[in-house]
Amino acid sequence: MTELARKYFQPEYGHFIDGEWVKGASGETIELLNPSNGERLSLIQAGNAADATRAVEAAARAFKTWSRTHPMQRAGILREMARRLQARVADYAMMETLDNGKPIRDSQNFDIPATAATLAFFADTPLMVRGHTSVFPDSLSLTLREPLGVCVGITPWNIPLYAAVALKMGPALAAGNTFVLKPAETTCLAVLEFFKECADLLPPGVVNIVTGYGSAVGEALVTHPAVRKVAFTGSKPTARKIMQYASTNIIPQTMELGGKSANIVCEDADIDAAVEGAVMSTVFNKGEVCIAGTRTFVHKKIYDEFVERFKCVLSGVVQGDPTQMATQLGPQASRIQYDKVCSYLALGASEGARVVTGGKAATVAGLEKGLFIEPTIFADVRNDTRIAQEEIFGPVTCVLPWSDDQEVLDMANASPYGLGGGVWTNNLERAQNFARSMDTGTVWVNRYYNFVPGQPLGGFKQSGFGREGCYESLDHYTQLKAVVIAGRAAPMGLY
Ligand code: ADP
Repeated sequence: MTELARKYFQPEYGHFIDGEWVKGASGETIELLNPSNGERLSLIQAGNAADATRAVEAAARAFKTWSRTHPMQRAGILREMARRLQARVADYAMMETLDNGKPIRDSQNFDIPATAATLAFFADTPLMVRGHTSVFPDSLSLTLREPLGVCVGITPWNIPLYAAVALKMGPALAAGNTFVLKPAETTCLAVLEFFKECADLLPPGVVNIVTGYGSAVGEALVTHPAVRKVAFTGSKPTARKIMQYASTNIIPQTMELGGKSANIVCEDADIDAAVEGAVMSTVFNKGEVCIAGTRTFVHKKIYDEFVERFKCVLSGVVQGDPTQMATQLGPQASRIQYDKVCSYLALGASEGARVVTGGKAATVAGLEKGLFIEPTIFADVRNDTRIAQEEIFGPVTCVLPWSDDQEVLDMANASPYGLGGGVWTNNLERAQNFARSMDTGTVWVNRYYNFVPGQPLGGFKQSGFGREGCYESLDHYTQLKAVVIAGRAAPMGLY
């Protein structure tokens, strides 16, 4: 363990079940590595079905009282969690950076503040979970929004705290549910540390964490008869399995499954701003972002100039030790992901794309075991090739030329995904037309990446369903009940 790892992490973590840190039933552990240098950060429990069952049972017991707590009590707990996170931004940012390899500038400016802000947003919502009243001569008809029960969250490795704590636990607890989390096995140390710090706020069993491989824990978690909902962020093959598990007891799901988002640059755009957006899309969080704009469509009139400026800025990006504030691009989060990105780099060349910059793995002096990849531009890409259709999840952007608005819209929408998108133009009417015609859950105009609390995150088509981070998320964590109360007037028949 390096000094930094020793400072921030325990040598080993248990599952968090019923308010206690416990060893897994199998006794087996998983070693978590720092992707910058390959060194051990800590060990986590390799959970199994017995651990999953224990966690769900604790959550089911806790639901009996937690579901009846005063909304202001739940609000206060969420607000205090947000405050504690915000009070230690630098520490939690460093934990995410050590665990995942994301540059500290990304974890300090995005992951931790965005998680705290979204938690604060959900802290304002328990009193807003409400129904309607309709008045009839002989009755009152009410709707109540009631919590579901035990909700399971299965979360990815690229935005560990944000996905688990802000997007999934936040609305689950706000609405009065209890929660079982299965974080990604490769990057969950900041999440575990956060619940160490917040355990005193939560009645036992309200939040439980089972660590380990999804294949060993997932089915037992999702098919347990006490579980009433599953929220998942991750890959499509895993989503299909989880949807099958969810069919066992017919439980609702929300799914956020990535994208291959179109970033459309018009000939009247501010080119420097659009280049900055394309660079952000390529390097922010090492390109391990589901909503990244990885298909950049550039109008033919400015195509050569754009590609040249994009190359100039991207090749100057500072790649290296992610714990340093100057670093803009860190290592990929895991060996599996690194190998996957490398295989797409080889594929791009074989599919006839032109490598403008990058195109191969990178070596950083002093971090020779780090999983670094050069920031890469593939130009002259055809929209029907695999590099333009499949999610690469690395610092790689495809650039495609276009000349007609309808043509580029057709290409943008010719994708199985529909998560994000960008449009760069100084023509408001054109911006509106693009925004309304793109089959995608988010469209940014003259900017890429801007997350404000309460803004819905979620996809069209195979990017999934359900919306996270917003008021509407509460609908996914509640069920509507109709209550009709008879009054004194004579019954008026059915209607
Ligand atoms: P990736 O391929 O990008 O690692 P995954 O979809 O496999 O993404 O992982 C996202 C989350 O899903 C992780 O927490 C992982 O452990 C979990 N997971 C993987 N396989 C399963 C499964 N069969 N059942 C439930 N969860 C799973």
